[in-house]
Amino acid sequence: MSQFMNEDQVKSSITIWQMLKGLWPFGRRHPALLFFSVMSILGVAISSRFMPTLVGYAIDHGIREKNLEALHLAAWGFLIAEISHVVFLFLYQYLFQKFGNRLLYYVREELLSHTQNLPMTYFNKTPVGRVVTRLTNDTSTLGEVFTDGIINVFTETIVLLSIVVSMVLISWKLALATMILAPIFIWGAYQITEKIRIILRDSKKKLSTLNSYVAENLSGIKVVQLFNRVPRNQIKFEKLSSDYKNVLLESIRSYALLQPVMNLFNAVTLTVALYYGGLLSNDGSIAIGALVAFLMHVQDFIHPLREILEKYQQFQNSLTSAERVFQLLEEKTEPNPVNRRPILKDLGLVEFRNLTFKYEETLPEVLKNINLKIEPGMSVALVGRTGSGKTTLVSLLQRFYMPPANKIFVDGNPIESFLKGELRRKIGVVQQDNFIFRGTIRSNVNLGDQSISDEKIVRALEQVGFNRLLIRSGRNLDSTVEEKGTNLSSGERQLISFARILAFQPEILILDEATANIDSETERLIQQATKLITQDRTSLIIAHRLSTIRECDKIVVLKNGEIHESGSHQELIDRGGLYAQLAEAGVNETLTEL
Ligand code: ATP
Ligand code: MG
Repeated sequence: MSQFMNEDQVKSSITIWQMLKGLWPFGRRHPALLFFSVMSILGVAISSRFMPTLVGYAIDHGIREKNLEALHLAAWGFLIAEISHVVFLFLYQYLFQKFGNRLLYYVREELLSHTQNLPMTYFNKTPVGRVVTRLTNDTSTLGEVFTDGIINVFTETIVLLSIVVSMVLISWKLALATMILAPIFIWGAYQITEKIRIILRDSKKKLSTLNSYVAENLSGIKVVQLFNRVPRNQIKFEKLSSDYKNVLLESIRSYALLQPVMNLFNAVTLTVALYYGGLLSNDGSIAIGALVAFLMHVQDFIHPLREILEKYQQFQNSLTSAERVFQLLEEKTEPNPVNRRPILKDLGLVEFRNLTFKYEETLPEVLKNINLKIEPGMSVALVGRTGSGKTTLVSLLQRFYMPPANKIFVDGNPIESFLKGELRRKIGVVQQDNFIFRGTIRSNVNLGDQSISDEKIVRALEQVGFNRLLIRSGRNLDSTVEEKGTNLSSGERQLISFARILAFQPEILILDEATANIDSETERLIQQATKLITQDRTSLIIAHRLSTIRECDKIVVLKNGEIHESGSHQELIDRGGLYAQLAEAGVNETLTEL
């Protein structure tokens, strides 16, 4: 995992604006929530400014002028301001977190549905682990950046602005004098936080190198001990570990520097405000209470500033995660056919016309000049040695990979003119590793399609002969099936996927015959079921058993991506070619050796 992270670093990083732009389509779905969240920030900022102001008012008008009414007013006002501040704080926390969570929920949802529609080529290029990381880690980091980083920086900026405005309102001269040194300190603090950011990024990398080194070593511990590499690895480990330690120490130093710089800034501004404010007060241009209020504002200045700088840097580091999420969202899904709509017929006619295919430009051709017409209802057995292109041929028919245009036809239409769903409805697949989901027997036959009735499911199970097995083992439609069908035998898994075909009744069937060993009773059941589901249905069977192959109307022998020979079992035997040799030798009743 950590290795993935390393190589998964994206080069260029997006800016916050790009990130906000990316999030906007999701955020705008809750305009009211967004509006009230922003309003609550204003509430927080303004209510917090009332407190110093009211203290100043109480001093100037209540205490100095001995005006009890003004004092009452200030005291009550202070209490109300405090209470509303707390209420606004609550609203702000609650509303923004709610907003952020909704937003992330949409992002995750969109990401998942988008990912599921990506073409197979994407999954071939990208390890599943990495896709999972994007869906889980990266989205949650994106969430943190948003709820923890962006919102905080935005809020504290508003607070900071409200402080500056309050100071200017009291005395712009005093405000100007106080803030004159601010740029220098802010620049200094920025430099420090920038350094911290770089160190933290570095330390993450160092830690992941360290982790993967440890993981690698422990998983290969046998080899390490066998080859007596323990001492050497120890030295390497110590080197990596001390690298990591040094980076951490560096970050501690910078953090330690940040606080004094901020405190110094605070001291300087306060001194200036006190001294110059005192002068102004002496010549009567500012009241004592107003000066006290001013000093209180100045004191409040440091916290949001520090918060902004730190959070800003923190989420700079996490922007790469955000970028990866947006990159995945931008990954192109397969284009929908635009030019020619197919004339939908339910025939089940499949044709390959002069099909040549390679997985990538730079790779060799995997299929060459394939010409094959499968009439409706006909069954074709594909045989050939491993790597001869059998799976590739059927994958192309299912459009797992984009085939070259006008080479593969279903019911007379090029397959690229179908919508993916239209095509998938026509073609049913039974694979070697039958995909069994966690759920019940029922949900594994109807795949969640409620329109398929229980009677239909039972009939399908009966037809493939599984119902008897079910009853015998005391199970029914509601019996649970574990993930990947671990509580079913491999034969049972195969039978369930056969029942699926009978329940859905696709016009075309693709069957990748299992080579796994099964007991003779299940073997017999599977043979019968195979016969049943291929009956009157265009079938393309990647066959390994001679018994299956014999039953097919036509046998196509693939060799190095080309059709080597084809015909019925008898024709091929009479021809005395490759197929005949092997069939006669009856190599263990399987043709994988071909
Ligand atoms: P088997 O009997 O072992 O299942 P097969 O006849 O189904 O073999 P294919 O899987 O079609 O063989 O593979 C044909 C060739 O294409 C092989 O040389 C294989 O290495 C290559 N190949 C298969 N899948 C890919 C892929 N996704 N990307 C690149 N090359 C591939
Ligand atoms: Mg294969």
